[in-house]
Amino acid sequence: MLPSSAKVVVVGGGVLGTSAAFHLAEAGVEDVVLIDRGPVASGTTPMAAGQTGYLNSDRFATDFGLYNVEFFENFEQKTGHAIDFHQNGSLRITLTEEYHQDLERRLEVAAQIGDDARIISSDEARQMVPLLAPAEDCRIMLMPRDGWVEPKSVAVAFAAAAVDRGVRIHTGVPVTGLVHDGQRVSGVTTPEGVLRTDWVVLAAGAWSRQLSQPLGVNLRSVPVRHQAYVTARLADSRPDQPIVRITEPQFYVRPEAGGLLVGGYGYRPLSFDMDEFEDGFEIAALEADQVYYAQLQAAAEPFFPVLENAVRVQDRRGLPTISPDGRMVISEPDGAQGMIVLTACGVGGVDRSPGAGRIVADIVAGRDQWIAPEILGANRFGDKFVDDVTLRARCEEVYAHHYHDVY
Ligand SMILES: Cc1cc2nc3c(=O)[nH]c(=O)nc-3n(C[C@H](O)[C@H](O)[C@H](O)COP(=O)(O)OP(=O)(O)OC[C@H]3O[C@@H](n4cnc5c(N)ncnc54)[C@H](O)[C@@H]3O)c2cc1C
Repeated sequence: MLPSSAKVVVVGGGVLGTSAAFHLAEAGVEDVVLIDRGPVASGTTPMAAGQTGYLNSDRFATDFGLYNVEFFENFEQKTGHAIDFHQNGSLRITLTEEYHQDLERRLEVAAQIGDDARIISSDEARQMVPLLAPAEDCRIMLMPRDGWVEPKSVAVAFAAAAVDRGVRIHTGVPVTGLVHDGQRVSGVTTPEGVLRTDWVVLAAGAWSRQLSQPLGVNLRSVPVRHQAYVTARLADSRPDQPIVRITEPQFYVRPEAGGLLVGGYGYRPLSFDMDEFEDGFEIAALEADQVYYAQLQAAAEPFFPVLENAVRVQDRRGLPTISPDGRMVISEPDGAQGMIVLTACGVGGVDRSPGAGRIVADIVAGRDQWIAPEILGANRFGDKFVDDVTLRARCEEVYAHHYHDVY
C-alpha cells in the first residue's frame, strides 16, 4: 500500500528516476519512495541504444562523462547488481573540415586527461568493423573506453540497488498531480491518495513538462522523437565491434543480437506536447515515421552496404527530452521549491544517468554540488524560449544537430 508520507518521492522509474533513487539512498537519505504508473523501465529507457561516450569537445561534458564511464566500469561493485555493459570502444568518423576540427578538439581534450583516444586508418577501422565501408578522405578517431549498455539492465539494476538500500518502489501507480501552495511542492496526488513529502524528484521522462505545468512552471525541456532499428543476423557483424558514429549524416551503428542497430539524428525532428496524446498513451505506442526510417537508411547504406538487403526485425523509438541549449536540467525551478526536475538528458539519458542521479542526491542531502548549480539550473533560460512555438522549434533544432556536441 502506498504510504501517506515520505521524505522524498521520485516520480518515474526510468533510468533517471531509478538512478536518483539509488544515489539518494547511497547518500544516506532515508524514507525514499519511487512511483511509476507502469513497471520500472517501461518508458523511453528500454528503447535506447544505450551507447556511452564521455569524450567531448566541451570540458564540462567530458568531466561529467568521466564520472559516468567510471561508474559503468564499476557498476556491480558500486551497486551490488550487474549490468550488460559492452566496452568495445567507438569510432567517430568525420567527412568534412568542420567535423575534422571537432575531432581535433576532442583529441586535445583526450590529451589533457591522458586518454588513449587516437586517429586510426581506414584499414584498421575495417579490421574492427568488417561491414564498414569508410569514405575516402574521412578521419577516424578510436575512443577505446566507449561502449554500450543494455538500457533496461541499467534501470533494473539501479532499482534493485535502491531497494537493497531501503527505497520502496510502487509500480502501477500514476501520479495525477503535485500538491503545491504557490511556492512549495509538498506532495503528489494518486488514485491511492495523497503522498506528502519534503521533496519530489520529477523524473517522468516525456511527461515531466506536462506534470509541472499546472504549477505555473514552464520547463524548458520538451520530448523530441528519436528512432532506430535493428536488423536480423548478418554474417560479419561482430558482437565485439566498436560503435561507429558518422558525424555528417549523423547516424550510429552498433552490434545487436547478431545484427546491427542503426539510429540517427536530424531526420524529420519532431517535438510533442504530451497533451496531444490520449490519457494512458505509452511510449511503445509511438507511431513510426517511415520517412525518417527511409532517410536514415539512405544515409547509412553508403557506409554499410550490407544494410541494403538487411531485414529490419525491430524498431526502437521513443521521446527523449531536450533543452534549448542541449544541456540537462536538474534543479528546483523558481516557484516550485521542494521539487527537483530531472530532465533534458537528450538522447543520452542512459549514459548520463549515474551523474544525473548523483546531482539529485547532492541537492537533497545538502552537499556541495559537484557540478556548479547554474550550469544545469531550470531558471537559466530566463525569459528566453517562453512560448511553446519558439521553445519546440529550438529543441528540435538542437536535436537535429546532436553530433555538434553542446549546441
Ligand atoms: C531509439 C533511441 C535510442 C537512444 N539511444 C540512446 C543511447 O545510445 N544512449 C543514451 O544514453 N540514451 C539513448 N536514448 C535516450 C534515452 O532512452 C533517454 O534519455 C532515457 O531513457 C530517458 O530516461 P527517463 O528516465 O528520463 O525517461 P523514461 O524512461 O521515459 O522514464 C519515465 C518514467 O516515468 C513514468 N511516468 C510518466 N508519467 C508518470 C506519472 N504521471 N506517474 C507515474 N509515473 C510516470 C513512465 O511510466 C516512465 O517509466 C535513446 C532513446 C531512443 C528512443
